[in-house]
Amino acid sequence: MRYDISIVGGGPAGLSAAYAAAKHGAKVVLFEKDPSIGHNVRTSGVSWIKEMNEFGITDQYFNPIRNFSFISPGNEIKISGDKNSACVLDVKKTYQLLASLAASEGCEIYIKSQVIDVSHKKDDKFNLLRVSTPQGQLDVESTLVIDASGFNSVVAKKLGLVTEWKRYGVGAEYECYCDGVDAETLVLMVGNKYSEAGYAWVFPLSKNRVRIGVGIGKPDSSVDPLKKLNSIIQNREPPLTALGKIQPLELHYGLIPNQGLRTKCTFDGLIMVGDTVGQANPLVLEGIRYAIEFGRLAGKIGAESLHSNSTAESLKPYETANQEILEKKIKSALKVQGRWLGLSDSEWDKEIEIIKGLSIDEFLDFIKSDFTASKMLKLALNHPRLIAKQLFSLVLNKNNNT
Ligand SMILES: Cc1cc2nc3c(=O)[nH]c(=O)nc-3n(C[C@H](O)[C@H](O)[C@H](O)COP(=O)(O)OP(=O)(O)OC[C@H]3O[C@@H](n4cnc5c(N)ncnc54)[C@H](O)[C@@H]3O)c2cc1C
Repeated sequence: MRYDISIVGGGPAGLSAAYAAAKHGAKVVLFEKDPSIGHNVRTSGVSWIKEMNEFGITDQYFNPIRNFSFISPGNEIKISGDKNSACVLDVKKTYQLLASLAASEGCEIYIKSQVIDVSHKKDDKFNLLRVSTPQGQLDVESTLVIDASGFNSVVAKKLGLVTEWKRYGVGAEYECYCDGVDAETLVLMVGNKYSEAGYAWVFPLSKNRVRIGVGIGKPDSSVDPLKKLNSIIQNREPPLTALGKIQPLELHYGLIPNQGLRTKCTFDGLIMVGDTVGQANPLVLEGIRYAIEFGRLAGKIGAESLHSNSTAESLKPYETANQEILEKKIKSALKVQGRWLGLSDSEWDKEIEIIKGLSIDEFLDFIKSDFTASKMLKLALNHPRLIAKQLFSLVLNKNNNT
């Protein structure tokens, strides 16, 4: 079988790359190892309404969120918005939409089809994928491969181009029925009671449906997030007391890179996108919108590169966008995360007091890691308390150093 572009992985990055590449005229195939698109949910699905709408993901795909609450062992704050800004996605429905968009542009999608081997035929200028599918084993040639296989970076690792992530987050989450939850408010819980190196969360999908989860950073902590989650639910730690009956209906589990961008994301005949290359914002494990944005960019630039045999040189615009748009943002977010990882419970009680002082717009910039130097300076000036200054100068210094 011969295609212009083969895509490995049917998550948001791969599906978006498939859509854009096919839309720009390439003959595209996508392989997903799971039996259906969105089959194994590995994400909590929180994102931003404006960005989702821009991608064509409309109100029917998410629960809108207006308010943000933080709970530490000895403190609790709430930042109320004047309009809905965030959202909790129906993950399966959203990924199925992304798959339908790709199919409508002509991409062929193989489900339950795992890429098991890869080789790069340098002289003949094509890549060969070996894929185990329900129709038997297939050998697929293509000019360009887009590695969108997520945390495991399957293609790039098999070609010996990257190594395993050393720092990463592991998350476990139940999607539950509950008697009642404030459907407009996201809750993040911080401090050792919830996670030694990370945080716990309550993300509502409706008045009676909620995702309750725990994320833990590795190798900072050896705790299993699922054990921690079970104990939080069993002990009815705040704010779970307010939810009435909690009945888990789905278990979600996933890993996410947490060490910044890989140094390179393009090679001859290969583009890496999404978690494969570490594009998520590590502050709050937010990667879906970057996977879609950079997936579409990878698909477009990939299709345009075909007439140059998709050499690394012809893929450079993608490499440049990846560095220019994401590198500083992710480095600054890692710096703040580094500070947060070191906080004791009583320090967390004080830290969320700083957050309480932010306006909703300042808070949204902060949580989205929108750390431009001018925004950070304004924040430091508006919030002269010493501890707030420390937090903001941390980011400023980092940005100035990079
Ligand atoms: C616990 C947790 C919570 C998160 N919460 C949020 C959140 O609230 N908001 C947010 O924006 N982000 C969140 N993220 C991050 C977000 O989920 C990721 O950044 C995003 O899913 C990355 O998309 P992707 O397409 O790169 O990878 P993935 O979504 O991991 O997709 C990769 C796909 O490749 C397939 N695959 C892998 N190997 C092969 C193979 N050999 N052959 C064929 N197919 C293969 C996989 O089955 C999978 O479908 C969270 C992550 C975790 C772990």
